[in-house]
Amino acid sequence: MNAPVAGSPIAGSELDARLNRELERLRAADLYRQRRVIDGSHGVRLTVAGKPCVSFCSNDYLGLASDPRVAEAGRAALARVGTGSGAAALISGYNGEHARLEEALADYCGRARVLLFSSGWAANLGLLRALFGKEDTLICDELNHASLIDGARLSGALYVRVPHADVAAVDAALSDAQGRGGEIGIVSDSIFSMDGDEADVPALNRLARRSGASLIVDDAHGFGVLPSPALRYPGADAPEVYVATLGKSLGASGAFVAGSEALIEFLIQRARTWVFSTAPPPAIAAAARAALAIIRAEPEHQARLACNIARFRAGIGALGDQLPFELMASTTPIQPLIVGDAGRAMALSRQLFERGYWVAAIRPPTVPAGTSRLRVTLSAAHTEAQIDGLIEALAACRLPAIGAGAVA
Ligand SMILES: *Cc1c(COP(=O)(O)O)cnc(C)c1O
Repeated sequence: MNAPVAGSPIAGSELDARLNRELERLRAADLYRQRRVIDGSHGVRLTVAGKPCVSFCSNDYLGLASDPRVAEAGRAALARVGTGSGAAALISGYNGEHARLEEALADYCGRARVLLFSSGWAANLGLLRALFGKEDTLICDELNHASLIDGARLSGALYVRVPHADVAAVDAALSDAQGRGGEIGIVSDSIFSMDGDEADVPALNRLARRSGASLIVDDAHGFGVLPSPALRYPGADAPEVYVATLGKSLGASGAFVAGSEALIEFLIQRARTWVFSTAPPPAIAAAARAALAIIRAEPEHQARLACNIARFRAGIGALGDQLPFELMASTTPIQPLIVGDAGRAMALSRQLFERGYWVAAIRPPTVPAGTSRLRVTLSAAHTEAQIDGLIEALAACRLPAIGAGAVA
């Protein structure tokens, strides 16, 4: 790295001074964030900064990110096609691997068409901006993923934030929106990423259809984990616009939007994050397709995950209630332990890490102030012994009293 030249605008710049003040404020509030380097694969057992541990914080819910069959499908495509797609899909970047993955996903979802995006973030931004504008209204659950919030704001539509999982509030917001005119969208996560609870998609769908609104559901944490969208949302229960990602249960990378022929053709014309972005590497599409085939052929992974979730909840329940955290009601692989204070959540996460368990502490602004938590995520790849070990480690953790301030 080149050292900054003394007297250059970089040394002691106004920008750095401002950023350093802000960084200091984050440190003082226990909100400073840092990465940890993983060496080797991102399975349940991993090596963090040289230390082996068992991970309970990945979204790789079925263990497919380190499944040799998925890697082999990627490797074979890499050997055949090379690394990059070289251009946006509308120019010359659309590979047969992308087309085959789109077909397989459309079939699995029971929808007419699918469009692949390079990430869930890109899908949500591109989709919402393409479909809605400043005459329109978007009704959004307050706990929606950040990419849905940013996409809704980027669209220019009136942003109506409704209380979490409150179908009656959505209904009221719909009546208001109808009075204003313009298009109306209801936007919701399917499984909420930080609480692990599930939206009532059929109820939202009924409201949407009754009032001529469109329902947009982001199923990043349900896709591959729960039964297929075709089974969960059959016939008229299907949300008009369905989004899911490939980087979580599929162990790959990217995302897709599923829906009607008209929806996908329109996004091809208008979704800027898709039109103006290089198509994902074809080998990643091949890997994702192999992962989808495994999910379809081997239901035992989902069954195993369900057993692991039940085992974790029963184990925590058996610890009694003299605990420095509270287990939220969730039936999904996302099992948050609410701690409250950000410093305490960090302290608990550090103590677990010393015992060989990696569970991420989630703090504001990802979650509301006062609800910092350990976000335990379970995988089909966890063994019973690993789950029991985590529960023992949680029981053995010691927390300072509330209000003790920053923890060493
Ligand atoms: C992870 C996530 C995304 C973002 O997907 P990426 O492919 O990681 O960009 C979008 N929506 C939800 C609900 C998510 O959990």
